[in-house]
Amino acid sequence: MDYSSVNALRANEVEVMRQILHVDMDAYYASVEQHDRPELRGKPVIVGGPSKRGIVCAASYEARPFGVRSAMPMVEAMRKCPEGIVVAPRHARYAEVSRSIFGIFRRYTPLVEGLSLDEAFLDVTGSQRLFGRGEEIARQIKDAIRAETGLTASAGVAHCKFVAKIASDLRKPDGLVVVPDDVAAFLAPLPVERMWGIGPKTAKRVRDAGYSTIGDLARADAQHLEYLLGSWGAYINQLARGQDDRDVIADGDAKSIGAEETFEQDLTDRASMEHYLLAQSARVASRLVREELVARCVSVKIKYSDFTAVSRQLTLREAVCDTDSIFHAARELLSRIPIAGKRVRLTGVSMSDFAQASAPQSLFPDERIVRGRAIETATQALRDRFGKQGVTRAALLEPEDETIANLHPHTRAPRT
Ligand SMILES: [Mg+2]
Repeated sequence: MDYSSVNALRANEVEVMRQILHVDMDAYYASVEQHDRPELRGKPVIVGGPSKRGIVCAASYEARPFGVRSAMPMVEAMRKCPEGIVVAPRHARYAEVSRSIFGIFRRYTPLVEGLSLDEAFLDVTGSQRLFGRGEEIARQIKDAIRAETGLTASAGVAHCKFVAKIASDLRKPDGLVVVPDDVAAFLAPLPVERMWGIGPKTAKRVRDAGYSTIGDLARADAQHLEYLLGSWGAYINQLARGQDDRDVIADGDAKSIGAEETFEQDLTDRASMEHYLLAQSARVASRLVREELVARCVSVKIKYSDFTAVSRQLTLREAVCDTDSIFHAARELLSRIPIAGKRVRLTGVSMSDFAQASAPQSLFPDERIVRGRAIETATQALRDRFGKQGVTRAALLEPEDETIANLHPHTRAPRT
C-alpha cells in the first residue's frame, strides 16, 4: 500500500473542506455589564467614560436604535440617547470572561487566533471527525458560551477567514450563518459596506464609482479598484470573489503579541488615539503576564482612512510586561507618527523580542517578572476599584502633572 498517496489524498480532502469559524460576542462589554448587573438588562447601556472627552467603548442593543456607536464621543452619545445609562468599563472583568470564552474555543481546536477579547478565528478543519461539521461545532461553542458565561455570541462558518467574518456579522445578535458552497453567489448581493475594511468614507467613494455590491467588486477590473483604493484595491477584488487563503495563526505561535482595533468612525485627535493605545497596552500587558513573557520591542501601528499604514518601533533597555512601560513607549512612538489633519481608522500596539521568565538573558529575570506582574495586578485592581475611567482620564487628560506613574503602587499611594 502506498501510504504517501493516501496521505496526499487526505491532505487534498482536508484542503477542500477547510472550515473556518469566526466567533464574535454580541455587544461584548455592554452584555457583560448587563449580565453582572441584572438591573441594567433591557436598558440602553453605554460603556465608556462619562467625562466630556470620554469615548463610547460599547453600546447595548437597546442603545443602538438611538444611533449610539462605539468610538463615538460620549457627549454625542448622550445627546442621541439621553436616557442611556453610562457605565465605566471594567477591563479586568472583560479579560476574565474572555479567558473563559477562549478556553471554550480551545476545547475544539488549538488553532485559535484572537482578534480582540471577544472575537476569534478558529480553524476546525481537523476537528470535524471528533465534533461534527463546522456548523455543529459553531452551535456547540455558542451553547457552551451561553451556558458558562450567560452571554450570546454570533458565529460565521465558511471556507476562509474573510467570508466567515462577514457571515458572523449578518444575523447578530445570537446569529449562526453557514456559508453555502457557492461562496461567490453568497457574497454577490451583499452591500459593499459589508466588505471587511470598507468604512463609511471608502464605501461612499466605491459607490460613487458605481460599485454597490460585493458582486460588483468581484466583477470589477482590479486595476480600476487599485486606482480607486490604492494597493488595497486588488486585494479587495480577490476577497470579493471569496479568495482568501490566509491561515488561522494560533495565538501561541505569534512572534509578537499585539492588540489592535479598527474604529467604526475615524479618530482625528491625539487624545482619543492615546486613549485606545492605553487600552491596547493594557491588553498586551495582560497577555504577556499570562504567558509569562517579557518583551523589549514595542511597536505602534496606525492605519489612515485611505488604508495606508505607518508603524514605528523602539527597543527598550529592559524587557517589560507592564501596561505603564508599554504605554509610555507607545505614546512616544505615536508622537513620531504624522497624525495632524489625518483620519485614523486603526491603532495597534504590539510587543516582540520576547524573553521567557526562566531565560538566562538577564541577571534578575524572575524579579523583573514578579515586579511586572505585581504592577499589572495592582493596576487591574485599581481599575476595578475606582473604575478604569478615572485611571484613564488621569493618564490621558493630564499627562503633564498626573501621569500614570501614580498607578505604580511603590511610587505613590492612590488618592482615595
Ligand atoms: Mg463583538
